[in-house]
Amino acid sequence: MMSPLANKTPPPDAGSGTLLQEQAHSLLACPDCDLVFPLPCLSPGEKARCGRCGAVLMEPKSHGFDYSIALALTSLLLFVLSNTFPLLKLQIAGREQIGAIMTGVHALYDQGFWEIAFLVLLVTIIAPLFRIISVLYVLLPLWFGRRLLGAAHIFRWMEILRPWAMSEVFMLGILVAMVKLGDLATIQPGVALYSFAGLILFMAATDASLDDGAIWVRLEDGA
Ligand SMILES: [Zn+2]
Repeated sequence: MMSPLANKTPPPDAGSGTLLQEQAHSLLACPDCDLVFPLPCLSPGEKARCGRCGAVLMEPKSHGFDYSIALALTSLLLFVLSNTFPLLKLQIAGREQIGAIMTGVHALYDQGFWEIAFLVLLVTIIAPLFRIISVLYVLLPLWFGRRLLGAAHIFRWMEILRPWAMSEVFMLGILVAMVKLGDLATIQPGVALYSFAGLILFMAATDASLDDGAIWVRLEDGA
């Protein structure tokens, strides 16, 4: 099952574009060392590893696309809640201030820290929204047996940008600030804080539920 095809000489009649395309769709490259293998046929629970470096090539999930879609829709709901409701209510020396995620971005921008403002905007709003919409854009049509324009490109970008989704760092920053300000002010967590914590958990669950191998097979088959 795992014999490499990389060194095999193509048959003499492999010159036509269609045949080459068909061959490319039945091959799988190792994500770590680029060694090429014939597409393995696995059952849920089985795992295919690269014969050269040991990286996991395919690991079919026991659930269907609907499971990931449900997690992504829950993430979308939590995203809307975390951007609609207040994040924190701060009471200090008789003054009360209500802060939302966008309040922080505006405040940083107004104080001249536009780079940090952009980073907060990217990590808390743009990156999570791009991820959730991308999962739904790719998976919802596949679930109905269709494929939307550019779905393969979007899914490739999702995989490239995955290590850069760092909403947890922002959450950690809020918790540290809450502990440090605890002695000086009264802090009341808002609905958005709980929603954002839920969003981090559900986005991680969505990521873990994605069956990359099955998605690529369906995207390249034209669904
Ligand atoms: Zn490898």
